[in-house]
Amino acid sequence: MLHKVGFAVVLLGTSHASLAQPPRESAPISNISYEITADSSAVGRRQLGVAMSFTVAGTAPVILALPAWSPGHYVLLWFARRVSQFSVQSNGVLLDWRKLDFQTWEIKPRSAGTVRVTFNYLADAVDRAVAWTAPNFAFFNGTNLFLYPAGRGFNWPARVSVHTEASWSVATGMDPAPGTNNFTAADYHDVGRFAIDSTQIAGKWIRLAWYPAASLTTARRDRTFGWLQKFVPAQIAVFGEAPFRNYTIFQRSDTLVNGGGLEHHSSQVDEVTTSGLDAPYLPGLYSHEFFHAWNVKRLRPADMVPYRYDDAQPTTWLWVSEGVTDYYGAVALVRSRVNDSTRFFDVIAGEIASVAGAPPTAVSDASLGSWINPTDGSSGLYYPKGGLTGFLLDVMIRDASDNHMSLDNVMRRLYDATYKRGKGFTGAEWWGEVSRAAGGKSFTEFARRYVDGREPLPVDSVLRLAGLRSESDTIREPRLGISTSTDSTGVAISQMSPTGAAAAAGARVGDKIVSIGDVTISNDNSFEPLRARYAGTTLTTLPMVVRRGSETITLQLPVRLIDRVQTRVLPIPNAPEKAVRIRGGILRGLTS
Ligand SMILES: [Zn+2]
Repeated sequence: MLHKVGFAVVLLGTSHASLAQPPRESAPISNISYEITADSSAVGRRQLGVAMSFTVAGTAPVILALPAWSPGHYVLLWFARRVSQFSVQSNGVLLDWRKLDFQTWEIKPRSAGTVRVTFNYLADAVDRAVAWTAPNFAFFNGTNLFLYPAGRGFNWPARVSVHTEASWSVATGMDPAPGTNNFTAADYHDVGRFAIDSTQIAGKWIRLAWYPAASLTTARRDRTFGWLQKFVPAQIAVFGEAPFRNYTIFQRSDTLVNGGGLEHHSSQVDEVTTSGLDAPYLPGLYSHEFFHAWNVKRLRPADMVPYRYDDAQPTTWLWVSEGVTDYYGAVALVRSRVNDSTRFFDVIAGEIASVAGAPPTAVSDASLGSWINPTDGSSGLYYPKGGLTGFLLDVMIRDASDNHMSLDNVMRRLYDATYKRGKGFTGAEWWGEVSRAAGGKSFTEFARRYVDGREPLPVDSVLRLAGLRSESDTIREPRLGISTSTDSTGVAISQMSPTGAAAAAGARVGDKIVSIGDVTISNDNSFEPLRARYAGTTLTTLPMVVRRGSETITLQLPVRLIDRVQTRVLPIPNAPEKAVRIRGGILRGLTS
């Protein structure tokens, strides 16, 4: 995305000797504006119309590029593949252009003046990092559509206008400009018929913009604002400030969505299945994405400052950006009493189980792996292992400082010392602040063995410092080898492993599951009671009733029991006074 748009930066200040220019530096351009057409005609074709206008001072080639990825979603998506009908005009005359590579265009102006680039953009991706349309709705990120001049940085102002139906609304994190649907600053957009509501929390406007509009019922609005009223102040308390002017939670719900959220500077975009609109994980999702407003959108590893958009930008520190965000997402909920301590301990227990179930992988290597989505079982491990590492560091800092300091001090100091000084944090700065908060205790060995190394994290010994212990059981549960999608007509098989139990029973993708054994399958939550009901069973088959078209068929499902480790984290009764203080400090966000 085009961050820091809105800062006045002079683009025409220096003259460049043409021979000295690196090959991919565009001629300077100024007066940049983008126009997005998202009316019912365009979205009916699942296209967005894009126009970019700018001024050139002469005939030097202008080189424009479209990002390869979107910050927060650390995979290469190549947005240029969705572009069609690329065309360039100046003074009413078509200009010549050519591709320099698959995401870069070179334009040759014939004179000084205004240049206008237009193209269509295919907006049919079920992915919150890409663009999507419905007959009365369009969603896009700035990175999807906004061409940028190569080699010119990202600190330049731009205007954005959206052409849409008069009855549709536009929701965006950008600042409004004079006129209808005009803005300055570019991040992402959200256009169409959706429901908007807002409330004030800690002096800031917090807004919900949900699609479809009917998904934002009064009960859901009140409940969601209730969670935000509690956990947002708990997050602000970590950093001492709320760095956004206002904040929007965009949410799209549908029977088929990717699920999850994507963070932006002053907003988050969440995708929730229709059957998950009241799921218990929602406050955790909102809290995680909200904490990103500080951690990663502002406080960020030096490897990702500034963002580059033309290629992957790997860092060994995603475990802090994502995992520690997971930790604060959960701990902010218990500190603000959205969740009770049992639920928080369950989050930690889940992380312990996820790490135990993955191959031994350094969390710094797992961070790098995001870009290639490894198949060895370590994919996304920087979330649970990073979260667990953050929790252990919090306990160790509190233990070393007699609960006078915590991980909060590390986050706040790094934020002040790096983000507020316009830079990212280095490994030396991270460990330096951890050590400083812990009264000078060295974490060099910890980093070498457990973060950059593959030794198992010292979970049990550190848990004890907070008066906690973990307990694991192995459960043998039936597994079906399917993915499902749920809507008002039932639970349908959406994917099936060819070697799984359901495939062996003769089930097909599209079958709607009615019951398995004596458990009725009515929604996504029905599989947990099914697993519990038949855990450790000696039965070899179960009747599986499915609806296929107009028929109802009973299949014989072979029982395939798979080992699953179930972990719990529990308070130790009569733990030492110091450990109880540390445990209470974590749960309440306090130091002694
Ligand atoms: Zn995240």
